[in-house]
Amino acid sequence: MADKRIIYMDHSATTCVRKEVLEAMAPYHAERFGNPSSIYSIARESKKAVEAARGQVAKALGADPDEIYFTSGGSESDNWAIKGVALANRQKGNHIITTKIEHHAVLHTCQYLEKEGFRVTYLPVDRYGLVSPADLEKAITDTTILISVMYANNEIGTIEPIAELGAIAKKHKVPFHTDAVQAIGNIPIDVKAQDIDLLSLSAHKFYGPKGVGALYIRKGLKVHNLIHGGGQERRRRAGTENLAGIVGLGKAIELATADIEGHNQTIRALRDRLLKGIQARISDTHLNGHPEKRLPGNINISFEFIEGESLLLWLDDEGICASTGSACSSGSLEPSHVLMATGLPVEISHGSLRLTLGDANTVADVDFVLGVLPGIVAKLREMSPLYKGKKGG
Ligand SMILES: *Cc1c(COP(=O)(O)O)cnc(C)c1O
Repeated sequence: MADKRIIYMDHSATTCVRKEVLEAMAPYHAERFGNPSSIYSIARESKKAVEAARGQVAKALGADPDEIYFTSGGSESDNWAIKGVALANRQKGNHIITTKIEHHAVLHTCQYLEKEGFRVTYLPVDRYGLVSPADLEKAITDTTILISVMYANNEIGTIEPIAELGAIAKKHKVPFHTDAVQAIGNIPIDVKAQDIDLLSLSAHKFYGPKGVGALYIRKGLKVHNLIHGGGQERRRRAGTENLAGIVGLGKAIELATADIEGHNQTIRALRDRLLKGIQARISDTHLNGHPEKRLPGNINISFEFIEGESLLLWLDDEGICASTGSACSSGSLEPSHVLMATGLPVEISHGSLRLTLGDANTVADVDFVLGVLPGIVAKLREMSPLYKGKKGG
């Protein structure tokens, strides 16, 4: 069988590692393998490489290098930020505010803390997935010890008004965390100007390696440790550093933030060509997320009368990688909690398709998808009794 062409439109799930990033990492798997905590010269070289990467991450966020801590990825950073601030402030209060559309790394951490005696408010969103600053301000009480709102949503791509929310948190002196895993490389970030106290990021979402991330913690903020052990990361995160991963993260964030607007223009043009093409060729669709305030590569669209799961299988057959907010794919009975929070009816959410574009994509990819998708949707609708009912009646 000839090599099948793969069209990768799932950049919000993960991205491939950039060539320059791989090249930067390679020596740290081999000859430059020293443990950064040791004192001989090859170890000092490793230490230097870790500190250089810390500088690259800090620069990308407008932070100081000593406010950056390396972790194993977005999930660990979210867990550390939330559990760490909650446990450090137990005497002050037990109330946490987050939203209904967070990633599970935030939601499940909050649910765990509820079992441990914390109280959590899950802010609603409007039909576009936007959190209201007024709702946040109303939810704050004397016992609120943490606010956590994601920068941009991984499913529907909605970009939240982070600077506005951060200003409210600051006014009430409540630490403000944002899961910025989807934002890096797509939105310019300045943690000082945006009043962000903690920020999570993950390298594999911006063309870096998997299993490495970082947490920004504003200087002076009280946060308990999550991982206990050795004295790495200035005694705040134990474990021998993921040396090559950290070097890769540094290089990846430098490249991803070098020309955000230029990159976005390219990706947005591809995305808009695809979206307009889908809307022109297929009837009974519903765009999920905000029309403008959304990640440049994100399309999340529901096709009425079909099942997202079947759609993914047919697309896979054509070599197209995508995802869905339909129930079965996530292994749960409920459709996506994000789509539900926007008020989308369950039956429409079942037919949702997420296509997330990125560096791997070309105009030819977009046109290929436009060539096959309408036929697949039509075929699936032909098999749907609901659709037949509609068209017949
Ligand atoms: C991918 C993702 C995470 C988890 O990051 P990992 O590095 O895979 O643990 C957390 N939050 C958001 C918004 C994500 O998209």
